[in-house]
Amino acid sequence: MADSGKKARAPLTLESDVTYLKGAGPAISTRLRALNIYAVGDLLFHLPLRYEDRRQHQPCARLRPDQEALVRGRVVDVDVRMAGRRTLRVVIDDGTGALTLRFFHFNNAQRDAFAAGRWVQAYGAVRVGLSGPDMVHPQYRIADLPETLQPDDTLAPIYPLTTGITQPRLRALIGQALELAQRDATLTAHWPELDGQSTLDALRTIHHPKGEVEALLARTHPAQLRLVREELLAHQLGMRLLRQRLKAKPAIAISNAQAAVAELIQTLPFTPTGAQQRVLAETARDLTQTRPMLRLVQGDVGSGKTVIAAAALLAAYRHGAQAVLVAPTELLAEQHARTLGAWLEPLGITPLFLSQRVKKKAERQAVLDALAADAPAIAVGTHALLQDSVHYARLALTVVDEQHRFGVQQRVALREKGGARAPHQLTMSATPIPRTLAQTVYADLDVSIIDELPPGRTPVTTVALPNTRRDEVIKRLGAAIGQGRQAYWVCTLIEESEELDAQAAEAAAALLREQLPQVQVGLVHGRMKAEQKDTQMRAFKDGISQLLVATTVIEVGVDVPNASIMVIENAERLGLSQLHQLRGRVGRGAAVSQCVLMYQPPLGEMGQARLHTLRDTTDGFAIAQRDLELRGAGELLGRKQTGDIGMRLADPMRDAELIPPLQQLADHWLQHRPQLAQQLIKRWVGDPAQYAAV
Ligand code: ADP
Ligand code: MG
Repeated sequence: MADSGKKARAPLTLESDVTYLKGAGPAISTRLRALNIYAVGDLLFHLPLRYEDRRQHQPCARLRPDQEALVRGRVVDVDVRMAGRRTLRVVIDDGTGALTLRFFHFNNAQRDAFAAGRWVQAYGAVRVGLSGPDMVHPQYRIADLPETLQPDDTLAPIYPLTTGITQPRLRALIGQALELAQRDATLTAHWPELDGQSTLDALRTIHHPKGEVEALLARTHPAQLRLVREELLAHQLGMRLLRQRLKAKPAIAISNAQAAVAELIQTLPFTPTGAQQRVLAETARDLTQTRPMLRLVQGDVGSGKTVIAAAALLAAYRHGAQAVLVAPTELLAEQHARTLGAWLEPLGITPLFLSQRVKKKAERQAVLDALAADAPAIAVGTHALLQDSVHYARLALTVVDEQHRFGVQQRVALREKGGARAPHQLTMSATPIPRTLAQTVYADLDVSIIDELPPGRTPVTTVALPNTRRDEVIKRLGAAIGQGRQAYWVCTLIEESEELDAQAAEAAAALLREQLPQVQVGLVHGRMKAEQKDTQMRAFKDGISQLLVATTVIEVGVDVPNASIMVIENAERLGLSQLHQLRGRVGRGAAVSQCVLMYQPPLGEMGQARLHTLRDTTDGFAIAQRDLELRGAGELLGRKQTGDIGMRLADPMRDAELIPPLQQLADHWLQHRPQLAQQLIKRWVGDPAQYAAV
């Protein structure tokens, strides 16, 4: 049946475009796309960021600063002040005391509405000054009788917004979606494995909470936990499904991988640590299989992950196949090319190199030809190796360094370079995840952990000093350099702008050159050309410059063993893990190394806790755990992204103990309820290909 005036269409369902909802025309639905809302069902999972409690009028006499409160009172005084900023000032009184409302933007009609004797209900953040409590630009309603101004029955959910979409609009649309959801069998189904309530029960509570404010705000309400479990389950399902799909493809079995490991060990200038030996054996075993390896190697900065990569690359080469190592930055790719060159050239193998920097047509073409020919090859480079124009005749293995720096498309592209046969996948990450969690967080991967540093490393001593002692730090730096040491000076990001970042680094370099005229000061930042960066890095590595000023671009993987001092300016701006990664650039040689964390006082409680953690431990996994604890407190309800895993509500670290039973459930559902599994994956994950840690 056609409904009034509009053209005939299928009945409204959760799959329908939001345009068909009341109050959402084409203009609104276009805007909703910015919030990732396309279909009616998407509204259900647009979750509140927080709640406002307008269920009670607070007495004016008891308003506290920084609290948000709902207040109802009679207008006792109104005036417009011209001193300083033009301000409309309205004083209301509720019998217990007075509250001042201040408006800087107002028109005459607004001003006139606040007539003495009328009633006002206001909601806003309370400030308490000399003239008592006030609110700046509160939300308000005015009436002649107090009964007209009643508090809400429920907490008011506050949603993430976009231009042209208001809270009331979203609430109305979400209300319609919740109505329609009653007819959806999956949303109303009860799965005792997840707990008694249905997904819809949980969504209703979260969108229209009645009570239990404390629990909701602390994110411990059963309705929230129900959705967190469902999201974690969906991710487990997605990761398992992806793994199944990848493992179903044939791979080139590298039968003599173990021999290649032995061959590499012979040529290395050092003996691998026990942990390296173990991981070498694990990867070699995977490579001999007819199904693709899906392995993640985790190891703290400096733990020696490159050796693992080298052995795998060599194994593929000796088997007569091709293998690539992809790094996220030019600098890192070049460093890998040099390291691998040094280890493999004595064995008669010269790795190919490809990046944006290889511009000469002939040089580029030579690499492309070598990879397109059915001959063994090892190629090292940046994502240039993943371009469509690069064809591989016999790709058996892909190694990806710092996998989290690559996007979904790049991961998929790399996987598809193997043609009918899936390449073995080895990924390396220095982002430490607490040991016990790695397997649950990366359910699609086998995880190897290098939990031992090469011998002869002296732990880095760390001190935290206020910026006010900068001159003293520079003086001591000069003295240390005079004794043959080398140092990094890291300028941290002030804004999300490479430009400003580069300027800050240039200014720091100029200052250091001025104060330490006898020292050669190098400079590396993100705005420099690859060649310039390379020249600077090389000069530092060769000892031509002794002090290297850098932005956080040096964070990833750069290796200069003689550098033993790291100064980090405004360290309070960086996260724990990032600071740990930076500090990992020193302490690689036998010299005693120092890390100086300079901060801008006063340091908040959180900042202090962070710097203390760093001072007290050098174990990346312990730091990750602490990072988690510090982050965990006071987090918002609905977040967009959890690291590179992309979760909405759950945090796999914080919610770790919920995961193990869900893993079993995921296995069970994949086998016995595959359709339901697909639905959940679609609801929470979208395309599971996004997990492919290449
Ligand atoms: P990661 O990539 O894990 O941060 P690298 O592979 O860059 O670490 O290794 C860091 C440094 O330690 C390199 O200079 C490397 O040659 C050296 N190295 C690696 N393994 C050992 C070892 N077993 N003994 C001594 N030095 C090692
Ligand atoms: Mg590395």
